[in-house]
Amino acid sequence: MTGFDLREELAKFLAAREAELIAFRRDLHAHPETGYREYRTTGRVLERLAAAGLRPLTLPKGTGLVADVGEVADGAAGTAGAPSGPVVALRADLDALPMPDEKDVPYRSTVPNACHACGHDVHTTVLLGAGLFLAERAAAGGLPGVVRLVFQPAEEVPGGALDVMAAGRIANVERIFALHCDPSLDVGKVGTRVGPITGACDKIKVRVSGLGGHTARPHLTADLVYALGKIVTELPAALSRRVDPRSSLSLVWGEVSAGLTPNAIPEEGFASGTVRCLDEQAWYGAPGLLEDLVSSVASAYGVIAEIEYTRGVPPAVNEPSSTAILETAAAQVLGPEALSVAPQSLGAEDFAWYLESVRGTLARLGTRPPGPGGHCDLHQATFDVDERAIGVGVRLMAATALAALRAGQASASGRLADVTSA
Ligand SMILES: [Zn+2]
Ligand SMILES: [Zn+2]
Repeated sequence: MTGFDLREELAKFLAAREAELIAFRRDLHAHPETGYREYRTTGRVLERLAAAGLRPLTLPKGTGLVADVGEVADGAAGTAGAPSGPVVALRADLDALPMPDEKDVPYRSTVPNACHACGHDVHTTVLLGAGLFLAERAAAGGLPGVVRLVFQPAEEVPGGALDVMAAGRIANVERIFALHCDPSLDVGKVGTRVGPITGACDKIKVRVSGLGGHTARPHLTADLVYALGKIVTELPAALSRRVDPRSSLSLVWGEVSAGLTPNAIPEEGFASGTVRCLDEQAWYGAPGLLEDLVSSVASAYGVIAEIEYTRGVPPAVNEPSSTAILETAAAQVLGPEALSVAPQSLGAEDFAWYLESVRGTLARLGTRPPGPGGHCDLHQATFDVDERAIGVGVRLMAATALAALRAGQASASGRLADVTSA
């Protein structure tokens, strides 16, 4: 298949399917489901894939699904049947965020406190579209291997990636690819990067306790709200002086709570936030360092502080040859001008877990509408995308899967040649 043909075929496919895909995305957007509750979303994807003749399988916990496109010699998708060629995986995430949707659009969330503010509805729709296109290719005999469509649950929790891995669904996968919406990149553009592309993200909760009492006599109490305020403001500042600034280790609070009434000093309170980091070394040292800093600030103000530190995901490290495959595919179907170098982001992605054992790459999909005022960030209550990004994503994922299969075939026959000539 020549590059021109693939471009043409994708254009024909999208001419027929793009409106359906946009409607699919809007339906997901209007019915968002948070991590491990993606039953409806799983059902919608499953139904559409089954209608295309695929045999999707739901993951053991009941949300998320995997479907194989292409020949499997024995058994259904994701089971022990031996694939007839290389297996490459494309991954999307299904979950929404527990936050309100503040947009004024017809497809606004109909679920209180649930919103697709990270674009996972777009990722799911892109993967569905790429899967439908690849299924057509497979039916026409044009798929040199198996493409595994991985619709994982609970990326934001995080941990859905670990469920997919625990279920053995990437055990025989040669390479894995994913994309993530990027509202700082124009629609039509794709950002790539070799090496770390996302940061680590852990959670911290500091609980303080001490003697409460009347606000008229703070000296007889631990003046807990004041002490908590000190911890909240002094910790991020102290951290910036204790670690190499190049590691970008940063603590940002997202929730602070203490007290019930203006004139009573409470006996306990807490603050919780995220600790993000671009550097693995600093990431390993972060829990101990924060423990020290919290106890030194707390003891200065006479309160007891307990720290609860929850490890999140490591940085996602993009593998060079997979990144090159994706870049070549992008240039082929979108044009070389579509490519740009993505900066490493402090945002975290649980796709990082797959990349610890499988070669692969995470790309950024531009979703910013042209013109001024189009920018909104991920995890904002008004987040939305330019829906032309869906067609771009379908082209990119489908072409990348095909290129990765061809690369897998070439290296397998190369190995075979080595073996036969030895
Ligand atoms: Zn997110
Ligand atoms: Zn996300």
